Amino acid sequence: MIYADYNATAPLRPQARAAMLAALDLGPANPSSVHRAGRAARAVVEKARAEAGAAIGSRAEDIVFTSGGTESLALAIQGAVAALDGAATLIVSAIEHEAASKAAAHAGVPVETAYVLPTGQVDLDDLRARLAAWDRGLKGTPILVLMLANNETGILQPVQEAAALLREAGGLTICDAVQALGKVPVNAALLGVDYIALSAHKIGGPQGVGALWHRAGAPLKAVQYGGGQERGLRSGTENVAGIAGFGAAVSESVRELPRYAALGPHRDAMEARLKAEGGVTVIGEASPRLAGVSNFARPGFRAETQVMALDLAGICVSAGSACSSGKVKRSLVLMAMGADDALAESAIRTSFGWNTQPEDFRHVADAWLQAHQRASSKLGA
Ligand code: PLP
Repeated sequence: MIYADYNATAPLRPQARAAMLAALDLGPANPSSVHRAGRAARAVVEKARAEAGAAIGSRAEDIVFTSGGTESLALAIQGAVAALDGAATLIVSAIEHEAASKAAAHAGVPVETAYVLPTGQVDLDDLRARLAAWDRGLKGTPILVLMLANNETGILQPVQEAAALLREAGGLTICDAVQALGKVPVNAALLGVDYIALSAHKIGGPQGVGALWHRAGAPLKAVQYGGGQERGLRSGTENVAGIAGFGAAVSESVRELPRYAALGPHRDAMEARLKAEGGVTVIGEASPRLAGVSNFARPGFRAETQVMALDLAGICVSAGSACSSGKVKRSLVLMAMGADDALAESAIRTSFGWNTQPEDFRHVADAWLQAHQRASSKLGA
């Protein structure tokens, strides 16, 4: 099997597995307990906190562990709005993951859309103009929600520039770095944002664990209450083994950033072949993109058909965004970029990562071209 769906979830890294097993072998250990077993668990959690902090150039204490990217985004969005007593308006980019856009829709404050250009990047001129005309009395604090790397296309967003605009306007920026972590450098201070959402399972850590980084002093209120864990910001007994796996995965993925970047030329070669021999359109080809992502379309060859044909050939890929539990729906991301129906209905996402072998790209291209040829001959094309 060739796994080319890293953006849905990545295989567990051996370092993460080892760290998780070691944590499980601690025995019964609640990090809040004061006895030695509890202290051992606490040490595991704090080591991982330091690792997650170091990965994004931040202090350990500004990291809050959560159950994943979705919860981190919900905490940032709802927690910031709550801390501002609802005197805020969210500006959500048109290509955000539903974990961000739906959390925003339920945050109880007005939501505006930050449009993207056909390049797939957010329209900074539009954002600048909107902030220049911002009526604070009416709309409260502007809070931008903008991802660093898009899950479907891999296109990188000008987060640093956007966050600077928000800062000048006295606003805040929440950055979804779930797909960027471990693939491109993510530095909290350089980005200049106020909150960063992270997830373990996209980088070879376990599913169901993530973190929210928040700038010291950034408005943030808890949205779930209980035992007061995580400095009161996220009550609930910590997932110690999951957190240990996250810490190990994040360290390893940052150490291996050059290895991820080295996927780029192989991805480019695959795309060149698919274009030349299969007539595909590569989405976001001219935009800065993650090295391990290729989203391409062949109008007339439905995405579901492509995914099934590749599956039969032992290759796992996604149609559009796979994060929505097998549902195949037209990609909002591609629509926001102005793609027409024919393109949006025929786009598939291949995504590669830490355990991808260079020859995997060739196998994917071979299998896709064969499937396309079969489909074309059936249609008598
Ligand atoms: N944000 C992006 C960009 C994603 O791709 C995902 C993945 O599904 C999420 C957020 C949600 O993360 P999680 O699956 O850890 O809840």
